[in-house]
Amino acid sequence: MMMRKGLLIVYSGPSGVGKGSILGPYLKEHPEAVLSVSMTTRAPRPGETDGVEYHFVTREQFESEIAAGGLLEYAQYSGNYYGTPHRMVEEQRAQGRDVVLEIEVQGAAHIRKVCPDAVFIFVMPPSYETLENRLSGRGTEPPEVVQRRLEAARTELRCAAEYDYIIVNDDLEEARARLGAVIIAARCEARRMKNMIDKVEQNV
Ligand code: ADP
Ligand code: 5GP
Repeated sequence: MMMRKGLLIVYSGPSGVGKGSILGPYLKEHPEAVLSVSMTTRAPRPGETDGVEYHFVTREQFESEIAAGGLLEYAQYSGNYYGTPHRMVEEQRAQGRDVVLEIEVQGAAHIRKVCPDAVFIFVMPPSYETLENRLSGRGTEPPEVVQRRLEAARTELRCAAEYDYIIVNDDLEEARARLGAVIIAARCEARRMKNMIDKVEQNV
């Protein structure tokens, strides 16, 4: 049987909306899905390990990666560079694994141009106020960073309608269930089933 190529899943939402809280359990339960490890110039947060959450690099290293054409997309966010290394994405998808890119909206817009077959999922807070509470409640950034991220969130929320699916993170368990449902739905989309349709038609 021909192996299905893995999905490219673009997963966005403002900082503090709960992207990590929703996706973490999904990845644990689904070994066929992997998270792409991005490269960034921001400093690691306490508990983050180089090569796990991100590849932490200097601006010089990041800029030489751009020049070498090693990034599928990249963007500046809140004063730092973030980008997706090309190679792992293609290798994993070729082996049938779904690859999740947890990236901000400018990077997502670029992926829409270069990989139109990707699935675009956006996580929304039930309200702006909830987002403020979650982001400051997480306590991982100083107040001025929280403020900058909340400003970025205003612009990001305006891009939500450009995505294929929106998950409102009100109740966490429900949001997790919706993510699983959306990924199954994406696999069933007719435009992704052409090979299957052709195969069955051949035997009619
Ligand atoms: P992101 O990955 O989008 O930056 P996180 O997953 O780190 O966001 O979540 C931000 C904070 O909000 C965390 O402290 C998390 O425990 C909390 N959180 C996430 N989802 C919910 C939810 N549905 N209800 C209440 N708190 C939540
Ligand atoms: P954080 O600093 O909270 O880890 O990430 C800040 C923002 O950058 C988040 O919206 C996150 O999704 C996004 N991001 C992380 N990696 C990448 C990447 O490789 N490319 C782009 N465009 N955005 C990224």
